[in-house]
Amino acid sequence: MSKRWNIQEIREFVEKNSDSKLLTKEFQGFSQKLEFECACGNKFEKNFKKFKNNHQRKCDVCQPPKESR
Ligand SMILES: [Zn+2]
Repeated sequence: MSKRWNIQEIREFVEKNSDSKLLTKEFQGFSQKLEFECACGNKFEKNFKKFKNNHQRKCDVCQPPKESR
């Protein structure tokens, strides 16, 4: 978690690694909830840590949340 991300890099990561789009325009940190638009058209919120590290890259309909361990 040492890399410093900016909103541009995050947008590129989202585009390359998922079918979702990033709607948030400003990145304030890994615990910030970012707004995404899923390929199905649903909007969902997720912090970037979960998006990236937990592979939660779709809305709750396309990818139902798993129970946390
Ligand atoms: Zn979806």
